[in-house]
Amino acid sequence: MRSQLKTHALGLLAIALAVFVRWLLDPVMGDTLPLVTLFGGVAIAVWLGGYRLAVPAALLGYGACHYLFIEPRGHFDLGSSTNVVGLVAYLFTCSLIIAIGEVARSAQRRTTESREIFRVALRSIGDAVITTDNEGRITYMNEVGESLTGWSHEEALNQPLERVFQIVNEATRDPVQNPAERALREGVVVGLANHTVLLRKDGTECSIDDSAAPIRDESGEVFGCVLIFRDVTAQRQVERDKASQLDAARLLASIIETSNDAIIAKSLEGVIQSWNEAAERLFGYTAEEAVGRHISLVIPPERLSEEDQIIASLRAGRRIEHFETERVRSDGQRIIVSLTISPIKDDSGNVVGASKIVRDVTDRKRAERERQNFVTVVEESTDFIGMCDTNGIPFFVNRAGLEMVGLDSIEEARRTPVAEFFFPEDQGRILNEFFPKILEDGHGEIEIRFRHFKTGKARWMAYKVSALTDADNKPIGFATVSQDVTERKRLSDNLARLAADLSETDRRKNEFLATLAHELRNPLAPMSNMLEVVKRSEGDPQLLKQAHDTIERQLDQMVRLVDDLLDLSRITHDRLELRRTEVELSEVIQQAVEVARPLIDAAGHDLTIDLPDEPIYLNADRTRLAQVFGNLLNNSCKYTKPNGTISLSAKRLDSEVLVTVRDNGAGIPQDKLERIFDMFMQVDRSAERSQSGLGIGLTLVKRLTEMHGGSIEANSGGAGEGSEFVVRLPVLSRPTFAPQPAPKAEVETQRRILIVDDNRDSADSLAMLLELTGNKTFMAHDGIEAVEAIEKHRPEVVLLDIGLPKLDGHEVCRRVREQPWGKNIVVIALTGWGQDDDRRRSQEAGFNGHLVKPVDYDKLLDLLSTLTNGGNIKA
Ligand code: ADP
Repeated sequence: MRSQLKTHALGLLAIALAVFVRWLLDPVMGDTLPLVTLFGGVAIAVWLGGYRLAVPAALLGYGACHYLFIEPRGHFDLGSSTNVVGLVAYLFTCSLIIAIGEVARSAQRRTTESREIFRVALRSIGDAVITTDNEGRITYMNEVGESLTGWSHEEALNQPLERVFQIVNEATRDPVQNPAERALREGVVVGLANHTVLLRKDGTECSIDDSAAPIRDESGEVFGCVLIFRDVTAQRQVERDKASQLDAARLLASIIETSNDAIIAKSLEGVIQSWNEAAERLFGYTAEEAVGRHISLVIPPERLSEEDQIIASLRAGRRIEHFETERVRSDGQRIIVSLTISPIKDDSGNVVGASKIVRDVTDRKRAERERQNFVTVVEESTDFIGMCDTNGIPFFVNRAGLEMVGLDSIEEARRTPVAEFFFPEDQGRILNEFFPKILEDGHGEIEIRFRHFKTGKARWMAYKVSALTDADNKPIGFATVSQDVTERKRLSDNLARLAADLSETDRRKNEFLATLAHELRNPLAPMSNMLEVVKRSEGDPQLLKQAHDTIERQLDQMVRLVDDLLDLSRITHDRLELRRTEVELSEVIQQAVEVARPLIDAAGHDLTIDLPDEPIYLNADRTRLAQVFGNLLNNSCKYTKPNGTISLSAKRLDSEVLVTVRDNGAGIPQDKLERIFDMFMQVDRSAERSQSGLGIGLTLVKRLTEMHGGSIEANSGGAGEGSEFVVRLPVLSRPTFAPQPAPKAEVETQRRILIVDDNRDSADSLAMLLELTGNKTFMAHDGIEAVEAIEKHRPEVVLLDIGLPKLDGHEVCRRVREQPWGKNIVVIALTGWGQDDDRRRSQEAGFNGHLVKPVDYDKLLDLLSTLTNGGNIKA
């Protein structure tokens, strides 16, 4: 509306201007052509506002000019014909001007409209458009062109096209000929080369595609060119994507075919749709055989339910990864496989099938099992198994190994260099000698101590090490399988010690045998001398008495030696039995002193005895205990120079009694004290110092004491400082009765006695003795003779040797016992065999008693006296 008012105002202004111009010209023109300037104003008015403005403007202008310039001026006079003609001519002329103006206006309007349509079309076309004149200068560029080239319309206007529109080949980057040039030159439509890139003003680029066409005028002359192009970057990308998808699909197909894994596609119903070569190899069915069949073809019957679960997962769109199961080949063989199953979806995302990747893991599983077995063996091994790198840093130690060295975990072991497994003094040898040697030889072995990290204790190990190498035989570490040989080493050490002990014992035994021979021969010389004296004494009572005493003493000495030997044998074979009763200590000591007294007196020793006032009762074998103290007193006597001092004292301490035998004699060197109780042990065997003895007395003493539940220790200040032996024995707190000394046999009754011995001297001398005490004796010298003599003489007592010619003593006794007259005869074995076993055998054969040669005559009399009671005799 506003612009319409303005147009009208301008139209009226043009008329007014025309009137004004006429007025200015009036002095020149006078009354001629009063309306002449109005035609220009009307033309302007019609141009501006069309006939609607031009008609009123023409009428207004006429009115004004009529009034001002037509005679009579200042009046409207249409009465004159001149004026009417003038008016008609004026109106005719104005009509023409208005008609022409209207035509021009509508042509102008059409042009503007079509130009606007063209402009809008170009703008909205979506493609970039550039027009040039025939010299290639840009005359127009639409907005899309602006955005693609980076040039604004104003900047681009009149610029040479190749400046604004720079194009290069996408791949080679070489400039591409501008299509507009050719279009202008040849007047043809030119398409762009493929893969053309437009370089923008800012240096960025975009792929474009389009063409150029010449613009011709009505005469067909080319006067410009239009270039139309578009951004095809996205399209190119799509093409590229498609191409690469195609490549990928091809690649995928070849991967599937060449894959070592079986790849199978199947429908949701389980029908096999594709089956690659690996599937053929794995399952033994060709693709032709498998495709179209149900997947249960390769599923073992007991695993068919698995398939339902798989399908259910797939339907839910879930992928199944590394599912290990069993499948079956065409030949029936079972294989262990790992399945990865993915759903196949159609374009709308619906699951329509599944792709299966099947890998045969049978070998891997077997290898895993074998590896597991291996690990179990290593872990369960009681040997130390470990590995370390070449820097001696462990990376594996088995459980037993960790325990052996007191480490809690493999991590702890990894922080502990191998060198620390050894004692500092051994580390140099291991690191500088042993390991380098292993690297040279490949393996090695050494016996070495491992250190326990917690207790610090040593463990002897048979340390066997091998070098670990890589594929190029380059050493990468060490491995060891080592055994704990601590026990074996201890045993072998013990064995070595034992061997040394044995050889020492053997040496002592040999010495003992020499001593024994010496000790047995010793009494024989005076005895044979004295027998010679008896022969030549011619009844001299003085000489006879002297000879008798000497022989008796020497015989006693020999008997004691043999008794000791027998006791020792019994003790070492555990065959010595104690006959324990309640005994009173002072009585035992008295008995021991009685035994030792002759020796003590002979050496002129001073013996003091100090016993508690209160009686001390022991559960003991009186004879054996007396033997203990008797031996100790004898030793003190033997190893103390004449006129020495010997003391025996007893002291009660709670539940035990300490009996101490002390002397001021030779003493015992400190280094011998510990072994003084060992068998055959003698401190000094040199001829000068040697006293009678076999080196077994103290062994007997110790064993007998221990058999009584006691102990013994030896003390001495050293050689020449005297000795002290302390015996500890448990005491009875409350005795049940006061034991009485055994009554001594007094009876000397006359008896009929048969003596059977193949040693005639032995038989004769015994017969003489028995005759001297008023008995009647008979003799036999072999078994048969013995049986006959018993039958003939019917003796009351038979003293029967066991080792007899023709029939041994056991058999003689058995035969006698078989006879009615033989049942009540007292048969006593008289033999050199005195072991418990010998006694048992004689008892089984029917003997009433068992005496060991040489017979103590008092003992024999004792025995004979007990026969009045008719009981068996033990001796
Ligand atoms: P034997 O006296 O027959 O040699 P023993 O076994 O009784 O054997 O004694 C072993 C050794 O102990 C003796 O040879 C002697 O060297 C030493 N010995 C034993 N008793 C004494 C003691 N009272 N004084 C010094 N040495 C003794």
